[in-house]
Amino acid sequence: MKEVILCKYGEIILKGTNRGQFEAQLIREVKRRANLVGNYSVRYNQSTVYVEPADDDAIANIDVLYEQLGKVFGFAGLCRAAVAEKTVESITAVAKEYIPEKLRGLKTFKCESKRSDKHFPLSSIELSGEVGAAILEAMPEITVDVHNPDMVVRIEVRDEYAYIHAGQDKGAGGMPLGSAGKGMLLLSGGIDSPVAGYMMMKRGLTVECVHFESFPYTSEAARDKVLQLAQELTEYCGKIKVHIISLTHIQEMLRDNCEEDYFTLLLRRFMMKLASRTALANECPVIITGESLGQVASQTLKAMCVTENAADCPVFRPLIGMDKEEIIRISRMIGTFDTSILPFDDCCTVFTPRHPRTQPELEKVLVEEAKVDFNALVEEAWATRNTVVLHQEL
Ligand code: ATP
Ligand code: MG
Repeated sequence: MKEVILCKYGEIILKGTNRGQFEAQLIREVKRRANLVGNYSVRYNQSTVYVEPADDDAIANIDVLYEQLGKVFGFAGLCRAAVAEKTVESITAVAKEYIPEKLRGLKTFKCESKRSDKHFPLSSIELSGEVGAAILEAMPEITVDVHNPDMVVRIEVRDEYAYIHAGQDKGAGGMPLGSAGKGMLLLSGGIDSPVAGYMMMKRGLTVECVHFESFPYTSEAARDKVLQLAQELTEYCGKIKVHIISLTHIQEMLRDNCEEDYFTLLLRRFMMKLASRTALANECPVIITGESLGQVASQTLKAMCVTENAADCPVFRPLIGMDKEEIIRISRMIGTFDTSILPFDDCCTVFTPRHPRTQPELEKVLVEEAKVDFNALVEEAWATRNTVVLHQEL
């Protein structure tokens, strides 16, 4: 008996003439992950990707690949299934061999069949009846319950073969990675920005990161933490670039020349300027932040208008309407939460004002900003950039 993984398309089934492009990106990502794990063949047909082990090691590692494929954006669902020839005899024989182990410990089941090959001689109901009877023969201790079964056994009669499985898991959803273009994520060491990156990857953006540090006010450990977060995000995208820029001199100049209440706003305007520059230099037409409306003083409506004014490209804020609780739930789900809560300082917490402005006026902010040479400081910070490239590790 042969077991394969079936991955079923999500939203891309709604695409029209450009569906091929989305499919190509989806298949590329499936193949990348399959190659990481072992020797598998990958083909697609009828809105489903079929992944089949090609040697004994691949059979042994199918669990690992299954978990990996659960993280591929673009699939609504996935399952492991046994393959049968398209005859009643083969389907019932395979079901008898494959299903009992899955049903062990349960009391009731029912069968449901779907035939995308309408030439198959039995109707769906007849086929379900045959397979149900075969399973009952192999496991006389269980019973059929069509209303509220412990497990639904599904039989899918498809193009070349029939597939039998014991339920489907939810896929990662979203759109294939890279299908929407590229964005530059402002990655801090906090909870929010890795989640923001994940959300945009899920909608098909390839994400690069820019991180601002303020050594020696921020530590080596703080930088390592951010790189660790980026490494954790590779679980969803395979590879990620992190551009690191020093804001040390900018922060010292703001501290020495500007009114304290404006420090954070002014700093965030420098971040927006430098992030958009990093974005445009790396073919990213947008920047992405983890801001959420009203979360902190710099994320009031007025504050965000003042900081966005310094950006040279659109700013995506995927968390803008989310509560912290929802953000934390996603952070735990994607596996970045434990790293995010490690206690290291971010440059935002260096020289923090005691009374940050929450309702700033742009004119007043610009007056404060004019007390330093904005452009010269941007050039100087830009020259400090360096880039780290991280790859997914299994
Ligand atoms: P997070 O939990 O992501 O750190 P936060 O709630 O602490 O967010 P802020 O510190 O105000 O909020 O930052 C808002 C957003 O600005 C972050 O989500 C991130 O996108 C960006 N940001 C903040 N600090 C940095 C930094 N040091 N480097 C790069 N981006 C940053
Ligand atoms: Mg932060």
